[in-house]
Amino acid sequence: MTSELRDLYQQVILDHNRKPRNFRTLANPSRAAEGYNPLCGDRLTVELTLEGEVIRDIGFHGSGCAISNASASMMTADLKGKTVTEAEEAFERFRAMLTENGPDAELGKLGVFAGVREFPSRIKCATLAWHTVHAALAGKAEPVTTE
Ligand code: ZN
Repeated sequence: MTSELRDLYQQVILDHNRKPRNFRTLANPSRAAEGYNPLCGDRLTVELTLEGEVIRDIGFHGSGCAISNASASMMTADLKGKTVTEAEEAFERFRAMLTENGPDAELGKLGVFAGVREFPSRIKCATLAWHTVHAALAGKAEPVTTE
């Protein structure tokens, strides 16, 4: 990765951290889950409203580091309007990009997080929101932890 590309990626992440999208609580969420990454201290709640199989609305709140906040922000923007199946596919792709495969063009904007793969201690920051939404979609009541 060139340093210019790395700078661009960092700018996108910093922008989402400064102005997180969908950072709010939902009035009547049909699903919700809490996530915690003890390695970094990131803690967030993801709420979503399902209309049939479609994610009509999704929001998150909590406190985390820049990568965790930016990941939750971009994830919620990406998942709104997707079906549960599409959301699960995106989760698998995102997780695989960070832990196994590296950059994945299919992920579009979410590809900015491919650079996090070079910093193994931050991977859980980037995947926390995804593990949390995965738990919410599965209807799990227990808080998820990245450990
Ligand atoms: Zn973190």
